[in-house]
Amino acid sequence: MRIFKFGGASVKDADGVKNLAAIVRKYDQPLVVVVSAMGKTTNATEAIVEAYMQRNSEALNKLVSELKSYHLSIVDQLFDSNNGCIDALLAKLENKLSTEPSLNYDFEYDQIVPFGELMSTSIISAYLKFIGMDNAWVDVRKVLRTDDTYRSANVDWELTTAFMKEQFQGKRLFITQGFIGSTPNNLTTTLGREGSDYTGAIIAHALDAECLAIWKDVPGVLNADPRWYPNAEKIDELSYWEAIELTYYGAQVIHPKTLKPLQNKQIPLLVNSFLNPEEKGTVIQSSEQNSELQPIYVLKRDQTLISMSPKDFSFIMEESLSDIFQIFSKHRVKLNMMQTSALNFSVCVDENKRVEKAINELQHKFDVRYNENMELVTIRHYNEEAIDVIINGKDVVDSQVSRKTARYVLKASEWNFE
Ligand code: ADP
Ligand code: ASP
Ligand code: MG
Repeated sequence: MRIFKFGGASVKDADGVKNLAAIVRKYDQPLVVVVSAMGKTTNATEAIVEAYMQRNSEALNKLVSELKSYHLSIVDQLFDSNNGCIDALLAKLENKLSTEPSLNYDFEYDQIVPFGELMSTSIISAYLKFIGMDNAWVDVRKVLRTDDTYRSANVDWELTTAFMKEQFQGKRLFITQGFIGSTPNNLTTTLGREGSDYTGAIIAHALDAECLAIWKDVPGVLNADPRWYPNAEKIDELSYWEAIELTYYGAQVIHPKTLKPLQNKQIPLLVNSFLNPEEKGTVIQSSEQNSELQPIYVLKRDQTLISMSPKDFSFIMEESLSDIFQIFSKHRVKLNMMQTSALNFSVCVDENKRVEKAINELQHKFDVRYNENMELVTIRHYNEEAIDVIINGKDVVDSQVSRKTARYVLKASEWNFE
């Protein structure tokens, strides 16, 4: 069994769906195809949740009608006659949105946002059948079982493995959703934004797959995000370890949870281009990095640098650190970089509403200062030249350098790599 995962960008329009079909057609081994919501649908459904929770029916109607027409126009372009493959789902979504929301935002989010994945896979499965490619559409919620941590659900590996082994057999081609699962009470959950890569890895792990291939709009894993750094180059081969480090530092090309389940069973991860499917992408497979790596750059934008010192002038010690970590953990603030000195502890975190709440709470015991509009750049396998490329003319607010990794907190400003 092989697992393929196609992200939103690969199926953003009718041509994307046809391209997926052409890629899948070339393989005659058993295949599970995991698909995300089409294009930017998850952002659109997030806006729908917001309007629904605020009972803003004007905004809600507008957003739902845009969502419908986007999907229905893709359906129109794919089939030559009327095809009602998403009619029932659209009716279900509208029905849900006509009920009163509960007070639990995250729960409501998980009951609405997954319609993106349910619609994309329904369209793709119907289209493949339409062009003669027999397949089974699987509602992944039946087999991917989680706890009820809405929007960030934790997988029940034992149940999931047993259910998946039973479900994914007897057919050559399965089409199923990324990103979603369900609780023991059959309520829908999601695994966190960009979680479809992770779904691919969960299925690969459960089925002891030969490999997981994720099809992206880039030639493979590059040594930087090409949207930011124009000279980015493809990396042919990466160890699991190195890839985990990169995703940890924020390389957005692979969801950070994807690699561990694969590494545990030594299942290779192939990062391929859906634009040039014949070209060799990046292979992530060995425990050791066999080839010499060039510097790899990871940029995290929209960072806040928070510095705190105890109000009673005590040192930053285990006790104050434990207070600080508890507060960040309670507000689900992820610390992207930490730095300590005798009287000061500083962290770099993603800007969001939860950070404000954490800062408010920290202020009871600590003097807190913070700087918004920061960027965090990590250079793995740095050298002098690579550091110059990054800090060239930039305002460096903080830095941390270890044997293999150099990290810089910079004031956000225009990037110019000339
Ligand atoms: P998907 O369509 O599967 O959701 P994503 O958009 O999440 O794919 O990931 C692909 C994008 O990741 C690329 O378009 C690229 O801009 C970005 N990216 C960030 N860092 C890297 C990197 N190191 N190598 C390749 N792509 C990267
Ligand atoms: N559709 C979800 C998202 O955009 C999951 C994914 O694409 O991986 O976050
Ligand atoms: Mg994505």
